[in-house]
Parts: sequence; C-alpha cells; structure tokens
Amino acid sequence: MSWDISGIDHWRADDFPRGAAIPDAGNSRDYVTGGWRSQRPVRDDAKCTQCLFCWIYCPDSAIAVGDEKVGAFNYDHCKGCGVCAKECPADAISMVPEGCELPEVG
Ligand code: SF4
Ligand code: SF4
Repeated sequence: MSWDISGIDHWRADDFPRGAAIPDAGNSRDYVTGGWRSQRPVRDDAKCTQCLFCWIYCPDSAIAVGDEKVGAFNYDHCKGCGVCAKECPADAISMVPEGCELPEVG
C-alpha cells in the first residue's frame, strides 16, 4: 500500500491517514517485525561461552535456545538493536550492516 502525500504541506489533522490498530496483545509473532533492521547480529561461536546473556537481554526474544545453548538468531523478529552485542561479555557478537557480506567467524 502506498499513500499519496503530495499535498502533505497542506494537510490538516483530519487529513492524515489513520494509524495502525493493535487489537490483540502478542500479535507480533504473526508478522515479520525485523523488516526494517539496518544491522544484523552475527555470533562467533568460537568466542561464545554459552552464558545466555544475549538471550536474556534480547527485547524481541529473537535468539533461540535449546539444551541450554544459544542457537540461531530469528531474523524475522530481530530488529537489529544491538543489545545482544553490547551485553555479550565475550564480545562474540558483531553487528553487520544489512546488505554486506557476512564476516568470516569461527
Ligand atoms: S552473550 Fe555472548 S557469550 Fe553469552 S551466549 Fe550470547 S553470544 Fe554467547
Ligand atoms: S540485535 Fe536486538 S533484537 Fe536482534 S537478537 Fe540482538 S538483542 Fe535481539
């Protein structure tokens, strides 16, 4: 969907398109909310100590955990905030600009 905003300088409050409505809590799982991410986290498994700090701190629950170990990032929901990289005590997570080649890790 696209809006015609050619007359935006002359809009009055009533002319603005209606904003989004969220009828149900927890519905973000139904959508790809990571679509506007500009950077993605990449983990160096050789540095990772499996402390799970990144999993605890991720505000979008976008880091999988199984058998008490971190797994893949869920890029459908990761927003690229960088909190995981900031909090990782082993400096094992790098934030890589979207559209760039992934670095060699491990
Ligand atoms: S915070 Fe860093 S060291 Fe800890 S589990 Fe996550 S990537 Fe591994
Ligand atoms: S960049 Fe942000 S949203 Fe993505 S996995 Fe790390 S903490 Fe979660």
